[in-house]
Amino acid sequence: MIRVSFKTILIAAGVSLLCNQNTFAQSKSLVNTSQSPYVKLSSLDIGNVQWTQGFWAERFKACRDSMIPHLWNVYTDPKQGHATQNFASAAGLDTAAHVGPPFQDGDFYKLMEAMTAMYAINHDPKLGAELDKTIALIGKAQRADGYIHTPTLIDEHLHPAQAKAFEDRLNFETYNLGHLMTAACIHYRVTGKKDFLNIAIKATDYLYRFYKTASPELARNAICPSHYMGVVEMYRTTRDPKYLELAKNLIDIRGLMKEGTDDNQDRIPFRQQTAAMGHAVRANYLYAGAADVFAETGDTTLTHTLNLVWNDVVNRKMYITGGCGALYDGVSPDGTSYLLKDVQQIHQAYGRDYQLPNFTAHNETCASVGNVLWNWRMLQLTGDAKYADIMELTLYNGMLSGISLSGTKYLYTNPLSVSDDMPFQQRWSKDRVSYIGYSDCCPPNVVRTIAEVSSYVYSLSDRGVWFNLYGGNNLSTTLKNGQSLKISEQTDYPWNGNIKFTVNEAPESVFSMFLRIPGWCKDAKLTVNGKNAELADLTPGKYAEVRQKWKAGDVVELNLAMPVTMVEANPLVEEVRNQIAVKRGPVVYCVESAGLPKDAKVLGLSLSTNTELKPEKVVIDNSNITALTGKATMKNTVWKNQLYRDVNAKDVNTVNVQLIPYFAWGNRGHVEMETWIPVSK
Ligand SMILES: [Zn+2]
Repeated sequence: MIRVSFKTILIAAGVSLLCNQNTFAQSKSLVNTSQSPYVKLSSLDIGNVQWTQGFWAERFKACRDSMIPHLWNVYTDPKQGHATQNFASAAGLDTAAHVGPPFQDGDFYKLMEAMTAMYAINHDPKLGAELDKTIALIGKAQRADGYIHTPTLIDEHLHPAQAKAFEDRLNFETYNLGHLMTAACIHYRVTGKKDFLNIAIKATDYLYRFYKTASPELARNAICPSHYMGVVEMYRTTRDPKYLELAKNLIDIRGLMKEGTDDNQDRIPFRQQTAAMGHAVRANYLYAGAADVFAETGDTTLTHTLNLVWNDVVNRKMYITGGCGALYDGVSPDGTSYLLKDVQQIHQAYGRDYQLPNFTAHNETCASVGNVLWNWRMLQLTGDAKYADIMELTLYNGMLSGISLSGTKYLYTNPLSVSDDMPFQQRWSKDRVSYIGYSDCCPPNVVRTIAEVSSYVYSLSDRGVWFNLYGGNNLSTTLKNGQSLKISEQTDYPWNGNIKFTVNEAPESVFSMFLRIPGWCKDAKLTVNGKNAELADLTPGKYAEVRQKWKAGDVVELNLAMPVTMVEANPLVEEVRNQIAVKRGPVVYCVESAGLPKDAKVLGLSLSTNTELKPEKVVIDNSNITALTGKATMKNTVWKNQLYRDVNAKDVNTVNVQLIPYFAWGNRGHVEMETWIPVSK
């Protein structure tokens, strides 16, 4: 491929002269809403927050030392991940056929995004060199017209007659392009280098031209639409108006073709939808992308649907862990009729209202990541803490459960209950595995999320700085008025609700600290330099504003009472009637067989609501965890191939039980596990 200058590419692509270097350099944030006209909050630059100690520092260290190196080895190994080999073949540097799923390019871009986010913090030259080398390879693979998708490009070399772009929606081309765009924008913001961004500009321009001329069927674009977020981020990076036009068009043309399905959320137009439906990853990516389009356009017909769907998910379809997608496979609750030929299949999907099975829950890890992406954008639009609550819940539970504590083993699905007595297998392993194979989309997704959590901790508005999530960190940023702010945070959150902030450098002008009081916290205390912050509203599920002139040495202490709580579900969730789940702070707990006496079965366990469960620090696979210990009731679990039997109230005894955070299950070998536990008297 002929190398051309960045300026030449811009001119060739018809990019406005507004896309000068200064405009490009304005923000270095993960999701750049610094110029978005319809958001309340904007993000800090990547690298403004450095983890120092505690929970996220530990996860981040595992991300640096094992998660990213492990995935890099997987994806560059021709016998496993195949990704770099596929790009080499697409570039004509290798003769190997394409291996792996069609969406593997996109998964590899996610890993590159994780590496970039890590590089923003540690500036590791080895990471930088790996990225540079890989970007050069990807550039060689890209077609002159901007198209890039290794299965088709390799076919062009090996089987030219078969090679056709955008012929099959299940080729995931737009999914791959979306992740290319997102990773390239972040790479440009972090490194200032334009090589990856140039590739993404050519690809986005290709997509723009494609949609100008595509037939309605070819224009179907609903499969895992990461590209809505990607295209909007390209607009935010380049300010090229045709990218925003493309993003709007991608949503507008959904639901306009006859072949739409509930599984892909395009049976009916987006603006007419009132409930979450279909494949949960695809759904959550759609909602996140629509929120991005609103941030730039203010189109309230989009937020009308987003608000209805959010309430449907949170109040009727989301697991207690923040997980989304109850069903492996099923039938759309809505796109059906008595004529069987009209029944629409769904898979890895949201089910009916209150349909939340435990053993067979799908709960793909990517759907949890999508839930975080969606709620982060809703938080930026509104400043409403209810979205930060869902983000926090999902990060600590449904997202983190997708990766082992060691950082090298993964779950594709996240069931809430596992029993060896269940006499059937499901498609995906309930033990953690080092490579998921064809469905390896989740590992790089969860790893990029862990690498990027520091970007979600704070937000900025004209009035000041917003504290969304808590964890030991140093903040060094610039407020909207251009003045510098440095704060250090010490805490053992989420194991302890005491959080101390010390101002190390304060701006001249008055500004507000908006401290999030989580919705789960019934008793919060806030002091400034040892005195109660009497004017602050400490209502759960709100941000408490403290507005004053700050100076270096000021200390803010937030104490969030974090008792063990027992949670019940709406009785319409029939799978968990008369059962309880245990939470402490944002962390959902479970019991696994490794926390029970030898030979005890988790299915025999029941808990009294009066049971005292004491926090206890333990180490599991080198990770610091707070477990809960107490007494539980165990009954005979020997069932002799029976479906029913008479109750025998005498056949019970008391056992010691250890509950551990749900995200930490399955790290002590093969286990049985249960999250919802029957209530004993
Ligand atoms: Zn996935």
